[in-house]
Amino acid sequence: MAAPNRLYSVLFNKCPRCGVGDFFITKSAYNLRNFDKMHKHCPHCGENLVPEPGFYQGALYMSYSFYVAFMVIYFLIFVNFFEKYIDYFLISIIPILIILTPLFYRLARRSWLALFIKPLEEKHPENSAH
Ligand SMILES: [Zn+2]
Repeated sequence: MAAPNRLYSVLFNKCPRCGVGDFFITKSAYNLRNFDKMHKHCPHCGENLVPEPGFYQGALYMSYSFYVAFMVIYFLIFVNFFEKYIDYFLISIIPILIILTPLFYRLARRSWLALFIKPLEEKHPENSAH
């Protein structure tokens, strides 16, 4: 197993410093009551997950870029493989974006913080042997 990296912690709801403690308190983006509740500090390493008030306003840019990237990819898939059904692109894009909102909200916050926090190097004895 590799040392914790940014992609892993962003995708799997982990603290960007240690890759062990959870970032959001629930695993699921679709827990409607708690999907947006974060740990203030990493439960494993104590890393401050809310560096300053308003820190996560910057996450808006991340989530915006996720939406744009998703729409471009989704559109290209339609144009290339389902051109006859291109009307369905317009019909489906809004509900799909709404469904993806909690997911992108969480991804955006995790990736925004991961830009500022360097992952810890794991120091396992078996890794230093070679
Ligand atoms: Zn941590």
